Amino acid sequence: MLLRNFKKSNMINAFYLARALKTFRPHHQFLCRGYSTHIATGNTACEDHEPSFLKSVEMYFDKAAGISGVSQKTLSHMKAPDCMLKVTFPIEIKDKVEIITGFRVHHSRHMLPVKGGIRFATDVDEQEVTALAALMTYKCAIVDVPFGGAKGGISIDPKNYTDAEVERITRRYTVELCQKSFIGPGTDVPAPDVGTGAREMAWIMDTYRQFHPNEVDSIGCVTGKPIPLGGVRGRNESTGLGVYYGIREFVSYPEVQKHTGLSGDIKDLRIIIQGFGKVGYWAAKFFEQNGAKIIGIGEKECGVYNPNGLNIDKLFNYRRSRGSFLGMPNVDIIEDPLEILELECDVLIPAALERQIGLRNADKIKAKIVGEAANGPTTPLANEVLLMKGILIIPDLLLNAGGVTVSYFEWLKNLSHMRFGRMTKKWDELGKSQIVELVERNVARKLSETEKKQVVHGANETDLVYSGLEDTMISACSETRRTAISKDIDYRTAAFVNAIEKVAAVYEGSGIMFMN
Ligand code: NAD
Repeated sequence: MLLRNFKKSNMINAFYLARALKTFRPHHQFLCRGYSTHIATGNTACEDHEPSFLKSVEMYFDKAAGISGVSQKTLSHMKAPDCMLKVTFPIEIKDKVEIITGFRVHHSRHMLPVKGGIRFATDVDEQEVTALAALMTYKCAIVDVPFGGAKGGISIDPKNYTDAEVERITRRYTVELCQKSFIGPGTDVPAPDVGTGAREMAWIMDTYRQFHPNEVDSIGCVTGKPIPLGGVRGRNESTGLGVYYGIREFVSYPEVQKHTGLSGDIKDLRIIIQGFGKVGYWAAKFFEQNGAKIIGIGEKECGVYNPNGLNIDKLFNYRRSRGSFLGMPNVDIIEDPLEILELECDVLIPAALERQIGLRNADKIKAKIVGEAANGPTTPLANEVLLMKGILIIPDLLLNAGGVTVSYFEWLKNLSHMRFGRMTKKWDELGKSQIVELVERNVARKLSETEKKQVVHGANETDLVYSGLEDTMISACSETRRTAISKDIDYRTAAFVNAIEKVAAVYEGSGIMFMN
């Protein structure tokens, strides 16, 4: 059934590709809402005339919008970003004043708070942050997280600054967000993204609390915090774990097995991952733990490859101590960082940055499945090439939604001021021990201590977060699959259709004020 769908949709894709190629000639490159076409420095995956990241998200949106049953009025309202903040502020660094530029974009405030990460990278600009904010709107809808979409960033390479300087920049950016009401547990709740982590989130929270000393829920102004500062167990690994759950779900579908020839057993998968940061590392760890073979990892300096499988923690420790994979024993070093994407494997997981698969390398991709852990790794034209080659794409807005799902759990924990499981763990264990005793008496057999421990164990915070995330990913994958089959469309378009319809239900249900 799905195979037939692919053949049919390939014909549509061929048409779409031809039309897209025609539309995106170089002289059309400045069409995207006044932003110039964004080509990441040194990115050789994309042709110059390929659309910017923001334009790409809009193209994916438009393709799905036409298939959804949503009115044009609502669609145009949904597509346009609600508000944008651009700030510049001075920071004194080594006796010199540097002007730092930061952004925060609220793409859709149909639900509050809005949610989205904060990125520290030199490529951060208005169009990139807007594209990422739009993806957050649709991502939250797909996993039924009741938030609007946002994103922020500062255009710096944090590696060029000392820790103390990064702290000053982060705190100063937060002051700007506080002054302009672009942060708060009920309005806008940032999280980590590229170049930021728990440390930066702690600084953001601490700065916010200086401005709101009496706000009882102030700790919920940001997620991805360290555990002692109100973070939730499982947030660190959540995006990578969600990537694992999502790919596991798709390979379990019979139509996917038929199309790819894969068995559905994780142990049979050979996986390549591009990007060995927070998302890539954890995705690799969970696949390794479950028996898959990670045969390649790509980083910005080079890639490492071993067809017999790589040891993830050895790689991580090596790179952490030396700053690079170069010189790593028992692996092949792939010098061109983009080449790792072109090696043969079952599942290719881009987990670094946007626009890594473009027109220049799409036809060289040999994976059976591309699982998009990064945001926007595939350009729309490359997307069509991959589909025409019969490669299944599990799209970013679905596959990497584990991060925002667990951020939602952290926010709920912060509002309830209590660790998950605190009130129920012991009670559950007591109830279960009574059942075990009853069963033991009736069947006249005693369970071993290990068996008893397994049965009686009450859920702690990690158990609850993992199971909530797993359930969320299973539902979101199955909803996407259902739409793909019923409408005879690819998974990305299906995910967008579902998201658009869910966001539209909120817009239309609440009415539109001051439109006329
Ligand atoms: P990170 O900064 O922790 O890791 C990114 C890694 O990619 C770094 O190790 C970096 O060196 C590497 N990299 C950069 N350029 C590269 C290149 N050209 N080739 C190979 N590797 C390269 O960031 P992260 O949080 O892991 O985010 C990665 C992606 O996942 C981003 O697209 C981000 O938006 C997306 N994402 C992150 C989260 C999250 O919870 N952190 C959630 C959803 C989506």
